[in-house]
Amino acid sequence: MSGFDVRKVRADFPILHQEVRGRPLVYLDSAATAQKPQAVIDAIVRFYQHDNANVHRGVHVLSERATEAYEGARETVRRFINARDAKEIIFVRGTTEAINLVAQTYGRKHIGAGDEILITHIEHHANIVPWRMLCEQTGAVLKVIPVDERGELQLDAVDALMTERTRILAVTHVSNALGTVTPVKELTRRAHAKGIPVLVDGAQAVTHFPVDVQDLGCDFYAFSGHKMFGPTGIGVLYGRMERLEPLPPYQGGGDMILSVTMEKVTYNRVPHRFEAGTPDLAGAVGLAAAIRYLEALGMDAVAAHDQQLLAYATKALESVPGLRIIGQAREKSAVLSFLLDDIHPHDVGTILDREGICIRTGHHCAQPVMQYFKVPATSRASLALYNTTEDVDALVRGLHKVLEVFK
Ligand code: PLP
Repeated sequence: MSGFDVRKVRADFPILHQEVRGRPLVYLDSAATAQKPQAVIDAIVRFYQHDNANVHRGVHVLSERATEAYEGARETVRRFINARDAKEIIFVRGTTEAINLVAQTYGRKHIGAGDEILITHIEHHANIVPWRMLCEQTGAVLKVIPVDERGELQLDAVDALMTERTRILAVTHVSNALGTVTPVKELTRRAHAKGIPVLVDGAQAVTHFPVDVQDLGCDFYAFSGHKMFGPTGIGVLYGRMERLEPLPPYQGGGDMILSVTMEKVTYNRVPHRFEAGTPDLAGAVGLAAAIRYLEALGMDAVAAHDQQLLAYATKALESVPGLRIIGQAREKSAVLSFLLDDIHPHDVGTILDREGICIRTGHHCAQPVMQYFKVPATSRASLALYNTTEDVDALVRGLHKVLEVFK
């Protein structure tokens, strides 16, 4: 953890230094959205103050600068996930849009009645609903890799579920509801052995540990800027060029075309073919700033901090009477889903809020996981690079308060 100093990191995040409900803010909801360092806020302000213009079309200096900033951000994302080529980086609104894009381009082209789409039981709704919609549109069938009581995927079941009708495997890298890290590289190897392409939902992964898409070998990788300390409204779909090149466009409009007549449209090359309309320029600039921030800290150091904090928090929560952690995968990221006695998570969250502690309660957009564990909801504390052991201690004190209220 050389060079990683959580006090210095905290100082970079202005929002953390405030009181809420008369208490110092304790932010434990980064899996929902992460806070932004000053460097990201500054980059967005600077873009609007100095460089703002529309991209790709203009001949004037501001348009040149904006285009350079936007295309520069694409290169920064390429470097961050080690894609081969910046053209393999498509800017979208977020993970949700990235997965819908693949479902509606790759899916509509290659998946038909009776074909199978393989997902897992621990997916976020963003990696379930687009595929269910595609099933309804095409008559394809959704197949599901089961989970076990630890919250790990049942890998024994995988090979039988990959059949000659399987057209895609869509799997999360990290479960937002449980924190489970899935063996994406191994799953990709097994899928590719049967000629099945793989989409990875990396929304909760890129913020916690280094991701190398070439090493994983996956065909598509999706993530959101706002969960990795960048702005909302911007996200990334990585796709291997040989997968992207043959695909039809997603949406129609400006920028995604080479020429238009009333009779015929010729589509633009990848990645512009998939970026119809004026993109979120300031969002891309902010995302690039977030990546530079993470690179300066070092993703290995970020991962080490997360793991230390996860170990500390797991132990601390287990000391709270009546607390049960849901999801105890052996490979886990810094997400703690739990139940406290038979107190409804909504009540837990409301009482913690009075103490200035922000956690998430509910089904975390992962209702099938909740159904597996036979609970309607959990409380979820999710930790990030700016969280400290003091934050965890505050949570534990807060949970004791909850127990007192319900005594
Ligand atoms: N996938 C996972 C694992 C998530 O945690 C989330 C958000 O919580 C999403 C997808 C959807 O991300 P977004 O709402 O940014 O599109």
